[in-house]
Amino acid sequence: MSLGLSSTRSSAAGCWLVIYPVAVFSSRNFKLQDKAERIVILGTGGTIAGKAADAADNVGYKAGQVGVDQLVLAAPPLAAFKLETEQVAQLDSKDMDFATWQRLAQAVDRHLQRDDVRGVVITHGTDTLEETAYLLMRVLAPRKPVVLTAAMRPSTALQADGPQNLLDAVAVASQAASGVFAVLAGRIHGATRLRKVHSYAIDAFASVEGGALGTVEEGRVRWLSQAEAELPPLGLSRIARDASQWPWVEIVQNHAGADGRVVEAMLAHGVHGIVVAGTGNGTLSNGLTAALQKARDRGVSVLRSTRCDAGPVIGGELPSAGALSPVKARIELLLQLLA
Ligand code: ASP
Repeated sequence: MSLGLSSTRSSAAGCWLVIYPVAVFSSRNFKLQDKAERIVILGTGGTIAGKAADAADNVGYKAGQVGVDQLVLAAPPLAAFKLETEQVAQLDSKDMDFATWQRLAQAVDRHLQRDDVRGVVITHGTDTLEETAYLLMRVLAPRKPVVLTAAMRPSTALQADGPQNLLDAVAVASQAASGVFAVLAGRIHGATRLRKVHSYAIDAFASVEGGALGTVEEGRVRWLSQAEAELPPLGLSRIARDASQWPWVEIVQNHAGADGRVVEAMLAHGVHGIVVAGTGNGTLSNGLTAALQKARDRGVSVLRSTRCDAGPVIGGELPSAGALSPVKARIELLLQLLA
């Protein structure tokens, strides 16, 4: 729906866009919002749209209950922006699926192609936000900003974090030049290094190796480092195959006693690709190595990452996922197999 809100109101929020000295922004990342341009907010569910029976309950809630229009109304300073909303999905992102990814990527692309749209914000669950961000970056590598946001507390919480995160995400969508970002707890992260690192804390996300790209302070975007390097976009056609026909790609882990039987079980069930999260710099037990070699001999693609929280895979014989986390390596392998 179009909220029909004009950005001409001279509220504090409107001022954010004009009073901050341009010199502090990296020119690559900074562009003021043209007031004719719209920000489209796509709702997909998550805790940000969650509801609990008791305001003091931050965990006993149901995610994906509140519509995206309501989320906008819960952050009154958003009235300073020209916004439009679309409810693409309404789920708990632990249940994110390929069909929703397809629909979301198509919606993002459709809106970004509009001349009157400056950027897109996506409200999402925190559990798989980093996967969706990475997928959108690899498929679209958009030339306008796409900003994912979320919340660790439901919309009914005494101190819900969703409204501020949404406001900050819109500020970034109205000021950044291009790319896929996540904005949470006042920090701007890029799609590649972003990880959820805490199961409960309000500040649950981090950019591994190098820290956040920037911060949002009272609506002002302050860039701290250059945008992450991007690979050329694969295009929406890469994920056009019917979602029920996407390849089956699993993640296995090396650990004490890993003997490779889990790989044998997957082979027996017709797995198409396996990401292995190795120990340390990507090392694997002898049993797991032998099982994965057997899988490759049978035509199953294997990609090796690390179960460490940061750092790349080094050396070794099986193909490396570099510094990608296991879940992002899985998306890379999915996209390779979809080619
Ligand atoms: N399970 C929720 C989700 O990912 C968690 C959250 O949003 O914080 O949708």
